Amino acid sequence: MTTTAPGRFGVYGGRYVPETLMANLIALEAAFEDARRDAAFLAEFQSTLAHFVGRPTPLYHAQRLSQVYGGQVYLKREDLTHTGAHKINNAVGQALLAKRLGKRRIVAETGAGQHGVATAAACARLGLECIVYMGALDCERQRPNVERMRLLGATVKPCDAGSRNLKVAINEAIRDWIANPDSTHYLIGSVVGPHPYPLMVREFQRVIGDEARAQFTRVAPRPDAVIACVGGGSNAMGIFAGFVDDPQVELFGVEAGGDGATTAATLNTGRPGVLHGALSYLLQDAEGQVLNTHSVAAGLDYPGVGPEHSFFKDTGRARYETVSDTEALAAFKETCALEGIIPAIESSHAVAFARRLLANRPGLRVIVNLSGRGDKDLPGLLAKGLV
Ligand SMILES: *Cc1c(COP(=O)(O)O)cnc(C)c1O
Repeated sequence: MTTTAPGRFGVYGGRYVPETLMANLIALEAAFEDARRDAAFLAEFQSTLAHFVGRPTPLYHAQRLSQVYGGQVYLKREDLTHTGAHKINNAVGQALLAKRLGKRRIVAETGAGQHGVATAAACARLGLECIVYMGALDCERQRPNVERMRLLGATVKPCDAGSRNLKVAINEAIRDWIANPDSTHYLIGSVVGPHPYPLMVREFQRVIGDEARAQFTRVAPRPDAVIACVGGGSNAMGIFAGFVDDPQVELFGVEAGGDGATTAATLNTGRPGVLHGALSYLLQDAEGQVLNTHSVAAGLDYPGVGPEHSFFKDTGRARYETVSDTEALAAFKETCALEGIIPAIESSHAVAFARRLLANRPGLRVIVNLSGRGDKDLPGLLAKGLV
C-alpha cells in the first residue's frame, strides 16, 4: 500500500513527540530498516517464531460454525501461539531489535496484561531487563497476568494516577523512556505511537497474513473476506498485510461497540486528532479531550487506533464495523460450544461479525483472525455472571 511521505499513511501517522525523543526514533527507524534487510536478523526472527512462538499456526476450517453461520469460516489460530495471543510475534521482533541496538532495558505498558506477558517472555529469553507499567486498577482486575509477568522476571509497576488504567500506564512508560533514552527501548504493543512503530509492528505481525494467504491456497486462490478485531489494530494489520494487494479480498476491521452508550469504536465514531505521538482517528469531545471508553474486552478498550487503519478507512480499502458486548459474548459461547475452542473475548468480536456478514451474504468464504485464547477472560466473565 502506498504512503504519501515517510512515516505517513495518507495524512495520518507522523511523529508528534518531545524533541528529546526525536533522535531515538530516528535511530530506531534506521536500525529497523537495516535489520529488515539483514539475512542474519531475519533468520533469527524466523527461527524464534518457529521454535519459541510455535509458528506456523494452523488455518482451521471451523465446520460447525460454518454450518450454523451459512458460509465457510476459517480461523487463523493465533490463540495457539506461546503466551496465547498474536502479541508475542511483535514482542520477539522488537526484543531482537533492541538487543541489536545494544539496549539492555525494555519498558512496556499493558492493559489486560497480554502484551506485558509476551514482552516479559521475550525479554527473559534474551536476558533483557523488563519493566512493565500497568494501571493499578488493571493490576487488580488481571492478577494472574501480573503473577505471570513476575515469574518471567519482569518488574511490574502499578500506576495509581487518574483513571488507573492503560492510558496512565502509557503515560508512565513514555515518561520512563524520555528519562532513559540511551539505555532503554520502549516496546509498544500495537500499530500505534510515532513513526516507525506503526510500520515496524505491522511488519513483525505480517507473518499472520503471509501464512494465512499461503495456507488458504489449498482451499481456493483467495478468500472472499478477511475479518479481524481492532483495538490498536495490530492483529488486523498483520492479517490484512497478506491480502491488501489483492483487491478481490474484502477486509473488515471490527471495533468494540461496548454497551451502546459507551464504546471503543474509534473509527466509527471518532475524528482525527493526535494521541500518543501520531495523528489518527481518536475518540474525543468537542474540546478535544480524550473520551472514556468501554468494552467487555480489555484489549479493545482504547480511545485511539493505528494510523494505517485511518488511512484504510478513508480510502475504503478496509471497512470498519461495530460489534456490541452482547454480540461478542454470544459468539464467544458459540465458538466454545461448536468448535471446542475458547476464544479471547477480543477475537469473539471478529467471530460475531462473521456471523452477521454471512447472514446477509450467505456462502462467502471468510478467514477470521482468532487473535488469542480466552482463558484469561474466564475469571472476569464469571465474576460478572456473563458466562
Ligand atoms: C491486545 C489484544 C487485541 C487488540 O490489540 P490489536 O493491536 O488491535 O490487535 C486483540 N486480541 C487479543 C487476544 C489481544 O490480546
